Amino acid sequence: MDNSASVRQPSGSNKEFENLSLDEWINKFGRIYGKRHDRHTTEYMISRLVEEVAELVNPMESQNRDEIGPGLADVFSWTCSLAYKLGINLSELAWQKYGGKEAPHPAWASSGFRQPELASFSQPANLNEWQALISKVYQKENARLTPMIALLAMMKDVGDLAMLNRKREPLESVTSKLAAILAWSLTIAELLRLDLAELVYQKYDDHCPVCHQATCDTDVCHPLSNLFASFGEYVTDEEKYAILDAASKYGYKTMVNSSPMVQSTKDLALSLDLISKSDAACIILSLNQSPERSGSFQQKDIDYRQFFEVLASYSMLSRGNVWVFAREGSHDFGSYLEKSLASENIRLMIYKDAGNLRALFEDSLSSLTSKKAAIAK
Ligand SMILES: [Zn+2]
Repeated sequence: MDNSASVRQPSGSNKEFENLSLDEWINKFGRIYGKRHDRHTTEYMISRLVEEVAELVNPMESQNRDEIGPGLADVFSWTCSLAYKLGINLSELAWQKYGGKEAPHPAWASSGFRQPELASFSQPANLNEWQALISKVYQKENARLTPMIALLAMMKDVGDLAMLNRKREPLESVTSKLAAILAWSLTIAELLRLDLAELVYQKYDDHCPVCHQATCDTDVCHPLSNLFASFGEYVTDEEKYAILDAASKYGYKTMVNSSPMVQSTKDLALSLDLISKSDAACIILSLNQSPERSGSFQQKDIDYRQFFEVLASYSMLSRGNVWVFAREGSHDFGSYLEKSLASENIRLMIYKDAGNLRALFEDSLSSLTSKKAAIAK
């Protein structure tokens, strides 16, 4: 187990974060969340950034510095994660944009304002120097700027970022907005006399603040509350009860798509909707043991809805939170699924009867619970 969370650095080296370059911050967030963000779309990540920026409005209005600090740290974390995901050289880009001749003037700049000479700055080595650079470049504007107006300007840039990305505009215009969002985060910190590097370090240190792992453990980091359950056509009531009862014993709210077969794409949309609202999934594959059933696996034995649900669960949920069961000696739908989705490494669990199914499922839930408990310590 990774114990890095409990190993605190001795005081004295605590200020190490001050020397981290912007690239190092980006790589740090890449290490903590990169695995997790691999399965997120850029759209999703931008929408999370939009949310984080919007969440700054209330504390900013009430001037609640205790909430503004962590909020700014979150905005910075998503900015870094996006830069990491998109493979953007954010420091180079921000240097061109703010250290270079093209440093833009905000709309409220006086017409006679002249940009300080580029020669008077060198490329910042750490976040502190970035904060100093941005505040120097915009010192005249900042004198007239309130944190709230800066936040509104940042909201506009975040909105533009979402729009540019949605319209599939060239990456340069998307990344330029990301640099602007970084600049606004630094400006807001500066206006409030906060140190962005310190805020980020306080919240994220060197790990995910939720699961405390050096690399966010997506299996345990999610608050587990909703379980998507799927029962194949031939799953018995006893088996269904075993799953539903075990789930409720562990405090899950279970959501089941009760339409037995795929009649239309609407049925798939319902499954998709339920899976996206879930933190975990338990799929009991359909089982046809009727005597007239021929021995070999046939096309008609494929439950397309469950096939789709396994795929969707693996792509949307953390894979340690997806359980796929099939009854022993039953049939080949499970192995067909394993083979066709070989690259996904489906972990198929075989059970003997309802009692055994319950035991296997409870084991899975219990080991997840103890993993979470161990990490929470
Ligand atoms: Zn985490």
